[in-house]
Amino acid sequence: MDSLFETINKIINSPVWTLALYVLAFCVVVLWLALVLWTYKDARKRIEDPVVVAVAVLTSLVLPFMGTVVYAILRPAEYLAEVRERELEVRAMEQELQIMRACPSCGELIKPEYVACPNCRRTLRTTCPSCERVQEPSWKLCPYCGYDPRTRRVPPPVDAVPEFHAVEGRE
Ligand SMILES: [Zn+2]
Ligand SMILES: [Zn+2]
Repeated sequence: MDSLFETINKIINSPVWTLALYVLAFCVVVLWLALVLWTYKDARKRIEDPVVVAVAVLTSLVLPFMGTVVYAILRPAEYLAEVRERELEVRAMEQELQIMRACPSCGELIKPEYVACPNCRRTLRTTCPSCERVQEPSWKLCPYCGYDPRTRRVPPPVDAVPEFHAVEGRE
């Protein structure tokens, strides 16, 4: 018993033990400061308000370890960059929806190039009976082949060259 007690006493009083305590204390302090730095870097990526970032860093500094743990529990789940990216995606989707129109019959979303509604089969735009290209509702005749719905025929081809001659002749 006595010898064991003496041994413990010797270890505690030895310079090696003192050195070990100092090294341990140094490591704890380094870890604490590293956690404060980590809190600062992490909070800046997640929190926009600089005051809230300062509060998080101060908590981590004043309450060693515990403050960082509390911050890690309460911090926003998403990075600011992720939030911004999602907002951009939502905006892009909204724009796409605005470009799309609703089918007058069933309300299905219709892309501008659709000729018919894929849901209720309603014809949305006609195609030219002559050249089969898609026609805008406002067109009075097919600008591609000249088909006229009133006369129901394609006018005979006109020679475009004399018109250019006429323009030249006027000058
Ligand atoms: Zn429809
Ligand atoms: Zn046509």
